[in-house]
Amino acid sequence: MTDLTKLKISEARDALRKGDVSSVDLTEACLAAIDKADALGAFVHKTPEIAMTQAKSADARIKAGDAPDLCGIPLGIKDLFCTKGVPSQAASAILNGFKPEYESTVTSQLFDAGAVMLGKLNMDEFAMGSSNETSTYGNAINPWRRGNDDTALTPGGSSGGSASAVAADLCLGATGTDTGGSIRQPAAFTGITGIKPTYGRCSRWGIVAFASSLDQAGPMTKDVRDAAIMLEAMCGHDPKDSTSADLAVPNFEAMLTGDIKGKVIGIPREYRMDGMPEEIEALWSEGRKMLEDAGAQIRDISLPHTKYALPAYYVIAPAEASSNLARYDGVRYGHRAKLAQGDGITEMYEKTRAEGFGKEVQRRVMVGTYVLSAGFYDAYYNRARKVRTLIKKDFEDVFAQGVDAILTPATPSSAFELGKQHTDPVEMYLNDVFTVTVNLAGLPGIAVPTGLDKQGLPMGLQLIGRPWEEGDLLNTAYALEQAAGFVAKPTQWW
Ligand code: GLN
Repeated sequence: MTDLTKLKISEARDALRKGDVSSVDLTEACLAAIDKADALGAFVHKTPEIAMTQAKSADARIKAGDAPDLCGIPLGIKDLFCTKGVPSQAASAILNGFKPEYESTVTSQLFDAGAVMLGKLNMDEFAMGSSNETSTYGNAINPWRRGNDDTALTPGGSSGGSASAVAADLCLGATGTDTGGSIRQPAAFTGITGIKPTYGRCSRWGIVAFASSLDQAGPMTKDVRDAAIMLEAMCGHDPKDSTSADLAVPNFEAMLTGDIKGKVIGIPREYRMDGMPEEIEALWSEGRKMLEDAGAQIRDISLPHTKYALPAYYVIAPAEASSNLARYDGVRYGHRAKLAQGDGITEMYEKTRAEGFGKEVQRRVMVGTYVLSAGFYDAYYNRARKVRTLIKKDFEDVFAQGVDAILTPATPSSAFELGKQHTDPVEMYLNDVFTVTVNLAGLPGIAVPTGLDKQGLPMGLQLIGRPWEEGDLLNTAYALEQAAGFVAKPTQWW
């Protein structure tokens, strides 16, 4: 079998079970591809020994007839997940040298299912960013380019390393996390699929916290079927996370029939933004037509509080981040600044945090502390929480009127140049305009690659589903994927 790294999870699973390929072969092929792809900056800690040990035991397990779907499948893990004994830095200098004593629930579930860890993947520092440029390791690069133009483009963020690695066939799938769009935006920028499940579907235990009421883990994969397979292994109730839901996890893959006849798809008018590129607008209309041709009923809907979502998110997320990041004090984890004679504990905190946190993280801590301060708490934080409730209610209202899923663009543009938007934080925040509403409302959302723009870059559409109905959402995404027939791949230059 050639080109093992190009296999999808479903294909590799079937080949492994038939004995056509071994996990050791698959893993070696991925490790070789990773070593050739340093230019992409996707993998930041490679774990070949762990991978080979896991691959051998997966092969033994498969031989013994015990082969869960992910048994023997090589994956990449976002650096935000704590992996036992393996550097887990959230792409921050403040966690330099930190090797957790424990394994996150999501990664333990994946490894219990037999998955193989190839290494840790690049990301924005503490998952704050939309371009992977805030990473202490330096940015990951998008394997896609504009035709023959060799300008380096962002893979998106914060899960930029995950997106780049999956799109470049360095691994068969990857974990991501999504607080405001960090699975869906990079998926859209790299022509892959990414789903953020309902808040509470995946345990957050052992995932470095950014904004706890918004953070969710999810899979980033080559297609919708793989997303269904990987999501099933990642989710489930965990007593160690009080916000994880005690609900049965369905067999998501079995729900992929492609039959969406009679489903009602809402098209929210507020997502038609001024200055949105025509190509995104056209893609959205095509998506609408594809779902209609597949038998869905299209309905124009209104989500009136959408325009307040971005400002509300950029109050709530930094507020929670400033509180979560208070633990990086130079005592408990990672980096501690060198102190001068006479320095006390205050100086230790100040110097450590000034050295360890990058600019964007410092900005969020400042904003968060400000909006939570006694004088401004009501004006900012409480107001943002009220807006959040209204945004959630907008969705509840349309779902109550019979809408099954909502179709929107995933991003306001295709992948942009590295080094351009980084200078203006607000411009960078605008990337999340279509995705943050979903986190604020705790809903499941999926990005599906649907077309290429004039420059040959992938563009994606987003489908938003009802809470806990990821199976139904994945099925609608599957119908869209089949209609769109997106098969393009980046040309290898790395
Ligand atoms: N880009 C958004 C932010 O910077 C979302 C990040 C995320 O989802 N982790 O906050």
